[in-house]
Amino acid sequence: MKDGRSAGSAHDADVAIVGAGIVGATLALLLGQAGMRVMLVEGRESATRWQPDSAPEPRVSALTPVSQQLLSGLGVWPTIAASRLMPYTGMQVWDAEGNGEIQFSAEDSGVPVLGHIVENRVTLAALEKAIDACPAITRCFGARVAGMALPRSGATSVVNAYQLDAAEATSLTLTDGRTVTAALVVAADGARSRLRELAGIATREHDTGQVALVATVRTELAHQAVARQRFLPTGPLAFLPLAVNDALAQPAEGASAAERHCSIVWSTTPEEAERLLALSPAAFCSELEDAFEGQLGAIEWASERFSFPLHQRHAEDYVLPGLALVGDAAHAIHPLAGQGVNLGLMDVAVLADELLAGHRRGVALGDERWLARYRRRRRSDNAMMLKMMDGFRLLFGSRQPGVRLLRNFGLGFVDGQGELKRILMRQAMGQRGELPTSCKP
Ligand SMILES: Cc1cc2nc3c(=O)[nH]c(=O)nc-3n(C[C@H](O)[C@H](O)[C@H](O)COP(=O)(O)OP(=O)(O)OC[C@H]3O[C@@H](n4cnc5c(N)ncnc54)[C@H](O)[C@@H]3O)c2cc1C
Repeated sequence: MKDGRSAGSAHDADVAIVGAGIVGATLALLLGQAGMRVMLVEGRESATRWQPDSAPEPRVSALTPVSQQLLSGLGVWPTIAASRLMPYTGMQVWDAEGNGEIQFSAEDSGVPVLGHIVENRVTLAALEKAIDACPAITRCFGARVAGMALPRSGATSVVNAYQLDAAEATSLTLTDGRTVTAALVVAADGARSRLRELAGIATREHDTGQVALVATVRTELAHQAVARQRFLPTGPLAFLPLAVNDALAQPAEGASAAERHCSIVWSTTPEEAERLLALSPAAFCSELEDAFEGQLGAIEWASERFSFPLHQRHAEDYVLPGLALVGDAAHAIHPLAGQGVNLGLMDVAVLADELLAGHRRGVALGDERWLARYRRRRRSDNAMMLKMMDGFRLLFGSRQPGVRLLRNFGLGFVDGQGELKRILMRQAMGQRGELPTSCKP
């Protein structure tokens, strides 16, 4: 720690984080750069590689300005900016069945950009570079967690509030037989979290009945830094603008292809996704162009396609003595509003705030009553977002004429309300409630 104390010197680490995805890696930096001894356990064998000549990765995230602020404070954003990102200054959302449409612009919202589209691999490589430069973080890659023992139950109910016995630890057993002990274990191991399962934390879960198909495409017309989404009855189809060097862009006729690449996320029924995956490249491009009403002209080229089942899940609890859940391990959300990573980054910013504040007061890192402060600050915000995504999905999935009329009217109405749009945009940009310290400008 900065004041020279260590929260649990008898353990292998103060905090063991399982999962070095974007969320877990960010938490490692938040705690490691503040001086905590962090062990980062990740099942993947190798570090994330990104080279300027790497082809664009189909998995991308729309990072909000608040997430950008967090990553800037950790010294990660300059590496991302020097690699590859696409700032977007406009958003356009419309209904396939009717004329309802809504547009947002950075100018109307009084900000330079609404967010950035960044390939997940670019973000991860930048995070890992910063982790390598942080001596307080030990990387334990190529190791999966097979077992976990939480501190004995009731350990936090000692009379002296927040004084969990410093010897109490959560212990992890790795698949290679090693054991890791830490005052606190954080599960950042994704939507199908093994740690959540080992801890016996139930989830509220439902299958959205949709699969997301992702690919990189080149379009005839330039995307003009606008993120577009068309709501079809089977699910939303998003075109997210990408920045691709001319040298890398797939060969194209005519002018620069750099601004004619998009990452698409096409949410649809599993049967339809299967059919789309099986199409020839030319047939797929033609169907995609139709589904997008030719908004960006012809689809000239599409990369390999990948699909992801879309389940919404919310953990019944985020904390136990010696354990906290963050990111997709705590909540998995439909990607239609591009919020998953951003919510996870808010989780870890809040958790780090609370852990560092608690430590300054001498609270044991695994103390459930202190960890409950994190749960209070994050669970209701995440629950609201999950509900909103469900609402959108049902609203735009309905073919009932009354609902169709209502949503078209609603989109048109909101589009005409400048102040309401600014409020909605601030929400989408992550400016909700009291921001954690690391996210404040
Ligand atoms: C199609 C699609 C599009 C999306 N678009 C956006 C978007 O635009 N914006 C946005 O904010 N979000 C988006 N999301 C959501 C976003 O991708 C997720 O919310 C985010 O990746 C979750 O990050 P995470 O670090 O919590 O989990 P993950 O990225 O799943 O990382 C978990 C890590 O844990 C490791 N791991 C798992 N089990 C173990 C174990 N037992 N032992 C050790 N390690 C383990 C894994 O190897 C992995 O590295 C999208 C999702 C999908 C499916």
